[in-house]
Parts: sequence; C-alpha cells; structure tokens
Amino acid sequence: MTASPTGSEPPRRPHRPVLGTRRTALFLTATGAVALTGAVAVTAAAVLTGDALFPGAGPGPGRGTPAPGASAAPAGPDPSPGAPGIGDPLMPLAGNGGYRVRRYTLDFDWRAPRTPFEAGATISATATQALSRFDLDFAGNALHHVTVDGAPATAERDGDELVVTPAKPIPRGRTFTVRVAYTADPTQGRHRDDAIQDYGWVPTADGTVVCAQPDGARMIFPADDHPSLRAPVTFRITTPAGLSAVANGRLVGTTRRPDGRVRWTYDSEQPIAPQLVQLAIGKFTFVDSRGPHGLPVRDVVADGLVADTEAYRSLTPEHLEWLEQRLGPYPFHRYGVLVGDTDLPVALETQSLSVVPRDDLLGDRVDAERNLVHELTHHWTGDSVAIRRWSDLWLSEGHARFYERLYSGEHGGVSMESAMRAAYEQHDQWRHDEGAPAEPTEATLFKVMRYDGSALVLFALREKVGEEKFGRIERAWATTFRGRAAGTADFVALASRVAGEDLKPFLTPWLYGAHTPPMPGHPDWQVDPVED
Ligand SMILES: [Zn+2]
Repeated sequence: MTASPTGSEPPRRPHRPVLGTRRTALFLTATGAVALTGAVAVTAAAVLTGDALFPGAGPGPGRGTPAPGASAAPAGPDPSPGAPGIGDPLMPLAGNGGYRVRRYTLDFDWRAPRTPFEAGATISATATQALSRFDLDFAGNALHHVTVDGAPATAERDGDELVVTPAKPIPRGRTFTVRVAYTADPTQGRHRDDAIQDYGWVPTADGTVVCAQPDGARMIFPADDHPSLRAPVTFRITTPAGLSAVANGRLVGTTRRPDGRVRWTYDSEQPIAPQLVQLAIGKFTFVDSRGPHGLPVRDVVADGLVADTEAYRSLTPEHLEWLEQRLGPYPFHRYGVLVGDTDLPVALETQSLSVVPRDDLLGDRVDAERNLVHELTHHWTGDSVAIRRWSDLWLSEGHARFYERLYSGEHGGVSMESAMRAAYEQHDQWRHDEGAPAEPTEATLFKVMRYDGSALVLFALREKVGEEKFGRIERAWATTFRGRAAGTADFVALASRVAGEDLKPFLTPWLYGAHTPPMPGHPDWQVDPVED
C-alpha cells in the first residue's frame, strides 16, 4: 500500500480529491441497505441484523456450544469447532482454525456499477482437525445458502464470522468443498484512519476495482482472511458485452454466452493472500509488453487513459531490473499495472497486478516512480514473502518504502540520507504516537512508523553492517522465504546468519521500545523531543 500517511512529509498529492467527495461515498457505504432497492434491500437488511438466510434451516448452534455428535464419531479425537481466528494478537478473528484452504473458485455475475449481483464461492479445503463446524471470514453482502460436499449446511453470521455447521462432522485429514451463494454488494467498503483510508470494493464509473487490504477481502468473498494464509484462486467473472474483466494471474480464456454476456476465467497461478486479490471490471485496454528475461507485463488501462499514462507505465521493465539487482529474481509469473479509473488516493500491491490510481500516473515523474517502485517492491516483500502476523507489517511496508526512497534518491527525488535523517528526527514521536516499528496496535498499523519509520530500521542495519552485507541479507530474505510467511524473529535470525554476527542486540531496541537508538555512522543525528 502506498499513500501519504499523516505527518510523514508534506503532502505529495495536491491533486487528491477534496474530502467531501469521499465522505459521500463512505456515507452511502455505511447505509448500504438504504442504497439498495426492492427485494435485495430486504435481504441486505436481514443480513445487517445478523439473521441466517439459509432457507429451511433452524438456528445453528451458538458460539461456544460443545461439539455435537461426539458419541457417533469414528475412532480418534471427537469433532470440535474450528477456531474462529488464528489468534493474531492484532486481529484475533482474522483467518480461521481447523482447516487449510486448497483453492478458491469465485464466480461473479457482474451487472452494472453499484448494482448488487449474484456471486458464489467454492472453497476446497482440508481439515486439520476433526471438525464439528468451522468459520469463514465474511462481511456484508446477502447470504443465500451454504453447502458442504453438496449437502445443505447450517450457516450463521456473527460479526465478520460465517459459522458453518455441516450436516455431518468432517474427519481430520479429509478434503471437503464448501459452496457459499450470495448476492454481492459492490458498494461495500470500510474506512481506516491511516494510510489505508477507504477499502473493499472501489466503484468506478463503469465497473469496479478492489482494494482489500488489510481485512477487506471478506467483503468480496468468504475467505480465510489473514495475510499469512494463501491459496490459489480461480476467478470466473461474467460481464455485459462491451466491458472487460481482469484478475490476478493468467487469463485462461473467455466464453461468449448466447445472451451476449462474456465469462472471463483467470487463474492466480500462484497462491495468494485474500488481501492481495484483485478483480476489476470496466472498459479496459490490455497493453502487453515484456520485462527482464521475457517476463510477461500486462497493463490494464481504462480506455482513454492509455496514451496519457504510457510514459510512466513504460518504466516498469527498468523498475523490475533495478529491483532484481537488489532482491533477486522477480517472484511471480507476470506483472502489470492496473490503472484504476478512480480518485482513490492509494495504490495497492495486488499480486501480479498492482492497482494504481490514474492521478498517480498523470502528474510528477518523481512521485509516479515512487509509487510504482513501492508497489513493485511489495511483490518481493509482502506478496512473495508474506508477513506471519500483522505486527510484522514493518517488514512489508518498511522494505517497500526503503527501496522506493533509494530508487527515488537515485532518480531525481529526495536523497535517501536526507529522507532518513528526517525520519530519524521524528522517530521518538512516532514511537510515542504509533508504537515502535514492530509494536503496532490494530489502530496504528498503517501509520507512518510502518513506512519511513521502518525503512529507517533497514537503513540503520545497512549503516551497521555495510552495503555489501546488507545486500546479501536482502537477497537472502527474498529468496529464503520466497512463497512463505516470515516474521520479525525470522528476519533478525537471517540477518545475523548472513552478517556473521548476532544482530539481535542491535535490532531489538530499533524494533521495540520507547527510544530510538543512535544511528551508526551518524553521531550528529538527533531525535526531536516527544510532544504529548
Ligand atoms: Zn505499501
């Protein structure tokens, strides 16, 4: 995610829309039932009250009810409920326990902007315990029915949890299929008071894009919604004639139906965290080119913006080459920029297809390149090397900001050293206001400490071990944990191993606690006093 977090620096997007425009959108979201009409409004309202809408099903078991049917279970542990979350301290209900998703197959029968449409999720999963019931993360929308292996299941909503009780318990080790049918609400969004701002579905003039980070994928589809939990995704998006659809990964094919509507099938190719899913619908032009080593590059551009955005989009191969020199081979099968025809003020590293708002590509070159390099860097750190827990976010955003600034300093922007000196001066204040780099709260996750404040930790490490060793640490980080989740302790251990010295005593005070340590090699740098 890129944005200008409050207090990080002078605003660098004077073209940002006035607040009033975006507040209006938020108001419509918060009162989504009002914006809907007819029968849909009735179901949406019912969902808002938490009623299960499964026809003919009685109320499901309440949360915390003992597992049913224990005496009838086969040998082995009695079936029990899967945990409602994986216990991330910052978002305890994110993700779910008791199973692992093997694949999502998502069907979207798109109709028109801001118009509810029929959707379905087919989730193949393997039970990691004997399950009496299990949860999915799912928010809003209008739920119709849920089946498990084709048999009707009881579905109950509890906040963002969709509690599914299958007709029969699921044995440990069994692969099973959950199907959830719902009416999707493409106006649904939420707001955070940090760099994320509005997230969820992002309506455009003729379609939508998606910005699900951090926990908005559940507004798009029922998911195991935590950044460390990944599975491949197949998208089947049906659009009216004249519109196009795009999603992460490879276009498998298109099928024209007798009524003229077109079904677009995409495969994510590699496992993907729900927060990094992209699916977009609109009047698009697909612009294909090649990056280093023949890497397929596919930009998806709103019609009418192709020529005006070409100058900055065409820099992608250079950005890829520059980052490959520092972080090793690009970790996915393709890349591209989705030019969102939206005044959304943030860009997001949706996997293999970063979404970048049009204004980012129509203004100053230095700003454009910072945003493009930021989202591309995330493909190594954040997308490929996922964070293990939300408190590891500094590893994702800190790296993205570090390379964004390093690149910018070499290409006409503010020098790395002056950017880092400015961050150093504010670091105690950020620690006070937003928590140390590896000590965020849920509310301060995407504040500036996770951006420049965390890039500063990497800068300090580079000053401590020298550029050559730092370069080896970084390449080792991206390659050792490629396609895996890793956390702060993993980074400290890997850095120590590569550097040949125990860096825990050095990095711990940088990552935790109230006071900023001295900057190696810069004894003249001073931290500003903290103001309450
Ligand atoms: Zn970011």
